[in-house]
Amino acid sequence: MIPFLDLQASNHRFEKSFKERFQQFLDAGYYILGGNVTAFETAFANYCGTKHCIGVGNGLDALRLILEAYKVLNKLKSGDEVLVASNTYIATIIAIKQAGLTPVLVEAEVETFNFNLTDLQAKISEKTKAIMPVHLYGQLAPMQKITEIATNNNLLVLEDAAQAHGAKDGMGKRAGNLGDAAGFSFYPSKNLGALGDGGAVTTNNDALAETIKKLRNYGTASKYVNEVLGINSRLDEIQAVFLNLKLPLLDSDNTKRRSVAKRYLSEIKNNKIILPVYDGSENHVFHLFVVQVDDRADFISYLDKNEVGHLIHYPIPPHKQDALPELKHLSFPVTEQIHQRVMSLPISPILRKEQVDRVIQVLNNY
Ligand SMILES: *Cc1c(COP(=O)(O)O)cnc(C)c1O
Repeated sequence: MIPFLDLQASNHRFEKSFKERFQQFLDAGYYILGGNVTAFETAFANYCGTKHCIGVGNGLDALRLILEAYKVLNKLKSGDEVLVASNTYIATIIAIKQAGLTPVLVEAEVETFNFNLTDLQAKISEKTKAIMPVHLYGQLAPMQKITEIATNNNLLVLEDAAQAHGAKDGMGKRAGNLGDAAGFSFYPSKNLGALGDGGAVTTNNDALAETIKKLRNYGTASKYVNEVLGINSRLDEIQAVFLNLKLPLLDSDNTKRRSVAKRYLSEIKNNKIILPVYDGSENHVFHLFVVQVDDRADFISYLDKNEVGHLIHYPIPPHKQDALPELKHLSFPVTEQIHQRVMSLPISPILRKEQVDRVIQVLNNY
């Protein structure tokens, strides 16, 4: 069996250093917002090329706290509209709703799984205040064009970078440093994953960073003095220990993901399987390798029979979810088509050559 993703094996690469640092953590006896969180924030800001990184509890809260902080700073107010991809993972939309803002969905393009830029522009109204591009599956959204549209319409650009740690644009700028602020998730299966929940905001905006630092900790900058109404969403000290040890390997892990993807792209030759579009650059970190097929049920039973792991990202679009009844009347034909046809294949930094060989062979024989 070729697993879709063997997280246990992936984390076992760090076993020795995890154990050493856990012992230090235990001996230090400092559990919340200590030196490990600060060290990670500094390291991750440096990595992304941003002035600030604020560690938070998870990716959802990272996105939500960016929006809440802009409200505190009077840059956003309840009811403002935020443009977001209709084929994103639902967390992006939940974050917008939790912050009291209105998500306005934008149709996708089947080639890139990202914004249809014509629809993006058509959805701008007087209430629109921000665009939230999602670097879906690890591939940067078309940031140059998005930034242009945002500048012309005076909109904030807030990246959902939860699937794109380390992705670089043509100028060498990384995800997290391509807009006004960005939210990251360190959910275990992400390209940089903790051993539990974790998240972060990156930004170059001093006031925003300071506000998010308060909001993640009950709205307090110094103990028991509450300046704004915050929440409890702090990056866990022990998760910061693990993330500090894993960050140095992120670039080489992404390179390995890309080399698996390049093999799939050049060696899978089957006209029943549509491969993802990729320009060969570092703008894609292949969080997922997503193909499209006409008859997904048939493809699934074939993969099962041949013991190749698979998952669907995602089976139901947000506007068809019971949790979002106010979006149910909407129609996004391309997004709906994507959700019916996509299938994610095994990809990870620890996939062995013979496993990649096998996936290619199985797919070519389909
Ligand atoms: C994982 C993910 C999130 C949410 O992250 P959590 O840490 O699970 O809260 C948000 N957006 C996208 C695109 C994601 O993939």
